[in-house]
Amino acid sequence: MKRKIAIIGGGIVGASAAYYLSTLSGHEQLAVTLYDDGTGQATSAAAGIISPWLSKRRNKQWYQLAKDGASLLMQLAREANLATDVYAQTGTIITRTDPTDMSKLWELAKQRAAEDPDMGEIQQLTAEEVKEKIPLLSKGQPGVYVSGGARIDGAKFVDDLLTQASQVNLTVKHGKVTLDEAGHIVTPAGTKRFDQIIIAAGAWLPDLLAPLGMKVAVRPQKGQLIQLNVQDFQDYENMPVLMPEGERDVIPLGHGQLIVGATHDDEGKFDLSVTKEATQDLLGSAQRFVAGLTVDSIAEAKVGTRAYTEDHSPFFGRLPMHPKILVASGLGASGLTTGPLIGRLLAGTAIYGGKPDWSKYEKNLANYFS
Ligand SMILES: Cc1cc2nc3c(=O)[nH]c(=O)nc-3n(C[C@H](O)[C@H](O)[C@H](O)COP(=O)(O)OP(=O)(O)OC[C@H]3O[C@@H](n4cnc5c(N)ncnc54)[C@H](O)[C@@H]3O)c2cc1C
Repeated sequence: MKRKIAIIGGGIVGASAAYYLSTLSGHEQLAVTLYDDGTGQATSAAAGIISPWLSKRRNKQWYQLAKDGASLLMQLAREANLATDVYAQTGTIITRTDPTDMSKLWELAKQRAAEDPDMGEIQQLTAEEVKEKIPLLSKGQPGVYVSGGARIDGAKFVDDLLTQASQVNLTVKHGKVTLDEAGHIVTPAGTKRFDQIIIAAGAWLPDLLAPLGMKVAVRPQKGQLIQLNVQDFQDYENMPVLMPEGERDVIPLGHGQLIVGATHDDEGKFDLSVTKEATQDLLGSAQRFVAGLTVDSIAEAKVGTRAYTEDHSPFFGRLPMHPKILVASGLGASGLTTGPLIGRLLAGTAIYGGKPDWSKYEKNLANYFS
């Protein structure tokens, strides 16, 4: 008899867990079912920047998780043979206008690059050199280039991983499910029992755990971005991602497409409407860097719901009171970077059991539950 494992949530954490449950040794003994509603999913609405090394955050556990996550993604992209429209190591440029801030950033870059070879080559660039690397910019700012930086298309990434896992041991079911008081999964086709359940439900984790009498300290945050057409740059495939100081990020997708994002709207919570104010704010940022953009250049707007904890740290692991259930949430604004590693750790634990020590990556899971 194969062991039955369920995953609730088909964002980057759930899809990565499904992928590793179909590739790690022991996968032959598993039958995996993934349930995903998809409404408001953060992963498919995300901007797609992978560049944790020069973050201003001082949280050491988060940095370790994000840096190891960026490295795992490089490996996963090769292993799963992902196309360049799914994951591309384009490099990233982080700008600073104040010379003192710039020299601090450069010192940090040198220190971090010495510690982590996957950060790749680093360069200090003048405003003109930034423009040379990203020709669609009408205005440059001095910055630091990091060749290990990448962009990822969350929706395509998830799709690719689920397709590959479906060829091995995964069944995907679309639609919303709930838990009953005993922790079994209630689906439209009845109550289902599994040997283990991985709940990767992002901002919706509190709803799912409510029937178990558990409260989770996770709050939703609305995020919006826009995708624009930049007609003159149809021939360009790879340009670095620009992370300008005090402005929205600019992510050239190649072939004359550009993403600008994203907003952070705590009041918006689970609201999925595209608002005029957010669109204006994003377009304004885009126009300050790229000439000739108008409202008509906007091809698409996306909205998703991020999950945040009080200390902005993700959490993941086995629920102490319900040992068959593993959870992850709170990935915030950097979940495309940390999600695949969290998915892999959860998949490994579901297969091999035990109580791994993840203290280098996260605080005690109990901090987030009451
Ligand atoms: C606008 C925006 C821009 C972003 N940009 C970046 C970026 O550039 N770089 C970066 O690293 N991160 C970025 N992020 C953050 C990143 O997208 C998230 O942290 C990450 O995708 C969270 O992944 P997840 O799998 O935990 O949750 P999600 O992707 O939200 O997936 C959770 C899934 O669970 C499903 N679900 C929930 N409840 C149920 C249920 N009861 N039954 C069935 N299914 C259920 C949901 O429908 C959803 O599909 C961005 C986010 C947003 C919104």
